[in-house]
Amino acid sequence: MKERFEKIDGVAEYNQCKVLNAMRKNRVDANCFSASTGYGYNDVGRDKIEQVYADTFHTESALVRPQIVCGTHALTVALSANLRPGDELLSPVGRPYDTLEEVIGIRESVCSLKEYGVSYRQVDLLEDGTFDYENIKKAINEKTALVTIQRSKGYQTRPTFSVQQIAELIKFVKEVKPGLKVMVDNCYGEFVDVVEPSDFGADMVVGSLIKNPGGGLAPIGGYICGTKECVDRCAYRLSAPGLGQEVGASLGVMQSFYQGFFLAPTVVAGALKGAIFAARIYEKLGFKVVPNGTEDRHDIIQAVELKSPEGMIAFCKGIQSAAPVDSYVTPIPWAMPGYENEVIMAAGAFVQGSSIELSADGPIREPYAVYFQGGLTWYHAKIGILTSLQEMVNAKLITL
Ligand SMILES: *Cc1c(COP(=O)(O)O)cnc(C)c1O
Repeated sequence: MKERFEKIDGVAEYNQCKVLNAMRKNRVDANCFSASTGYGYNDVGRDKIEQVYADTFHTESALVRPQIVCGTHALTVALSANLRPGDELLSPVGRPYDTLEEVIGIRESVCSLKEYGVSYRQVDLLEDGTFDYENIKKAINEKTALVTIQRSKGYQTRPTFSVQQIAELIKFVKEVKPGLKVMVDNCYGEFVDVVEPSDFGADMVVGSLIKNPGGGLAPIGGYICGTKECVDRCAYRLSAPGLGQEVGASLGVMQSFYQGFFLAPTVVAGALKGAIFAARIYEKLGFKVVPNGTEDRHDIIQAVELKSPEGMIAFCKGIQSAAPVDSYVTPIPWAMPGYENEVIMAAGAFVQGSSIELSADGPIREPYAVYFQGGLTWYHAKIGILTSLQEMVNAKLITL
């Protein structure tokens, strides 16, 4: 894995420069770490972290807030702020992430976009996992206002898209209909490459701070980076029309936002190393892994198809027992809010549910794949994977 690791370290070094330069340019100092309360007027730390994100992602503006409770919330804010009644949302990359089905109204849900008169259209990927350009062109109509592109595979076994692939798709849809807005669900993709979808015309990139960009230190939060027009609307939707970005207390989390963002490039590098290690091991044992042990990576997720619910449970048990926090508990599948199937999640994390920390999860459904990700250090990821292997042996699901 040596050559792969060297390449990953090169990307981390480049991204470390990007983040550092944004912090230097914006003259980040100790004042930025002060807590504001109440309305949070004139919160310098909050305003500067948003500028640091905008400069790192090369966008005009950014909204980076502890009031954004998770990735789904950030995506919901971005969509509902930039779609009006009568508009249509298009996903040209197939089904979106599970929790977005209720946000959009693909699964009936109170307060969905559908309930507010926003329709939805989807074009599935072709057999080989590439974009169906012909049908995407046909699907774009006079109502189409926003195109949503999910970078990472989510709970699917399709490949994750590279930034280059996304760039091509953005160019295509904007040629078909100039003025169309494009949002990229950037969850798990940040800092895996030296470029981001915002470098190629995405109007918004959106993600969670308890994944890659929080670096394991942010205790909550989400971000939306993009054009001033789009981000302003998001701010008005998140708080209230007329209030926008000027309110929202930072409550003492700012140092963790800055420090986590500073560490994120190297944390992502460690997670990538762990993912490759997992792929190599489980591939050798005859399990299907996505991506495989030699492919290029575009996110930190490693899918391992374990063929049975028992396999998923044993794998997750191992990851959980290798955790620094809650190592003694046993994960079991449960009906999590927002998901259609029961989901099992192993996450013995310092930040509850944080999936930049070592974690594994997946819905209990065919092909019984677990999605493994994170590890604040490569060494922890390695220990976690070996412990999962031990649990698989103990459950007699594999013999070594
Ligand atoms: C994690 C994730 C989300 C949002 O999930 P939250 O649990 O709400 O933070 C959305 N899309 C993708 C692809 C994700 O991986």
